[in-house]
Amino acid sequence: MTDITPAATAPTRVRIAPSPTGDPHVGTAYIGLLNYVFAKQRAGKFVLRIEDTDRTRFVSTSEQMIFESLRWVGLTWDEGPDVGGPFGPYRQSERTEIYRQHAEILLTNGWAYRAFETPEELEAERKSQMAAKLPPKYIGRSRNFSEADIASELAAGTPYTVRLRVPQGSGQKTTFRDELRGDITFDHANVDDQVLLKSDGFPTYHLANVVDDHLMQITDVIRAEEWISSTPKHVLLYEAFGWPQPRFWHMPLLRNPDKSKISKRKNPVSLVYYLEAGFLPQAMLNFLGLMGGGMAQPTEQEIVSKGLNTKEGDLFTLGDMVEKFRFERISLGGPVFDLTKLKWLNGEYLRRLSPDDFYTALRQNVLSDDYLRDIAALIQNRVETLAQFGDMTNFFLADNIMPTPEIFVPKKRSLEDTLAFTADLLTTLEAAPWEPDSIEAAMKTLGEFKQWPVKENFMLLRAILTGSTQSPPLMDSLIIFGKPRSIDRIRRFLNLQTDLAKRAANQKK
Ligand code: GLU
Repeated sequence: MTDITPAATAPTRVRIAPSPTGDPHVGTAYIGLLNYVFAKQRAGKFVLRIEDTDRTRFVSTSEQMIFESLRWVGLTWDEGPDVGGPFGPYRQSERTEIYRQHAEILLTNGWAYRAFETPEELEAERKSQMAAKLPPKYIGRSRNFSEADIASELAAGTPYTVRLRVPQGSGQKTTFRDELRGDITFDHANVDDQVLLKSDGFPTYHLANVVDDHLMQITDVIRAEEWISSTPKHVLLYEAFGWPQPRFWHMPLLRNPDKSKISKRKNPVSLVYYLEAGFLPQAMLNFLGLMGGGMAQPTEQEIVSKGLNTKEGDLFTLGDMVEKFRFERISLGGPVFDLTKLKWLNGEYLRRLSPDDFYTALRQNVLSDDYLRDIAALIQNRVETLAQFGDMTNFFLADNIMPTPEIFVPKKRSLEDTLAFTADLLTTLEAAPWEPDSIEAAMKTLGEFKQWPVKENFMLLRAILTGSTQSPPLMDSLIIFGKPRSIDRIRRFLNLQTDLAKRAANQKK
């Protein structure tokens, strides 16, 4: 075993490594905040690295949105693709040659091997394991190929991946220390020969992540606990390269109020939603800082001397966090991303603004010039007096639109049928690019598939969005209202109506 801990004196360097696969997630800001605070407490550096090697899930606008939304909550980084730094490039797609060279090192020292199985063979293997009720695991023939076998496959031009050779044999285990949990051990019987380099020459997350953490001199890897099961593979990679390991800190996952892993079915998870729906960045940051419990509750004495009520002890700034947050205090119970609490906090911050600042906040957000101008253009041809503006546009300005079944259930359809279709509509719209033609085409395709004629289909969405059977043009309204809030409105509608329907059914019993 190589020496596993970074020198105590090594200057602290931490990173977040988001993948640009969609809207920036609240979890990225949560982990980003913890990394930021950790770095500031130790006069260290906070690095932002973009892990964009999974080209199948790549979304071109995502990287920019990650930068903007992290800056919105108040985080800044010392090194990153946009600000540069001494260890760049900080975008993995610009580092592929580095990963290929490192895969070569492991092929040479025996820690990796070329695997020539076709996707079909792997699929067949997986199916037979499932049929035998075994966990899916690579047991391909390539692991034990002789030099001659390899040479003949290469000569034949067979495509291959590069896999990690996880030491197998009875009792082989990997143990690593998690700074919050203590030692964690994985039996190698449960650790797969991970693909490191794909057949297209791109690295997988595991190889690129370890190589970069080493080359970027990361001392502490602070990430979400969902990565714990990847860590033994990473630890083996450090060993394979003969590199010292960073320290690992796995943070408790954010949870829905029912304790399930946070999901967009229950809460909006895109930071862009919170930005567009009128949350203040300082409230969002404060809320994320409460997750995990690393901030001490104020003492009795502080509460009395500062005249705080207990809940006000929950209010703090980024500066307070740097001063008072303690990583050893973090509780692993699973912090609940509770929207009620976030709204309460946001209300507290709003109340503390001066009337002028409150007005400015409104005008920069839900009543911005651009927004009002777009809405005005949409209804100019439909009003007879200026005063009718409000009648036609209230759904753009209100947050809570709740149509009744008389409006949203089409004649000859049941409530259940309508809610089932709404669930499909929600999934369809979530995946649609937010442009009128794409939305319309996606809705029509779904309608044809589910046999919901255009008229009923559009009427339903109009009712959900506007609370009315008549409104300005639907597609334009969706575009102006924006994707995050439109999706949220449909989701809230669906959740509320599903609850009401359940309650009504229970009462009948
Ligand atoms: N690219 C990974 C992600 O999307 C990074 C995980 C890690 O921090 O190691 O979260």
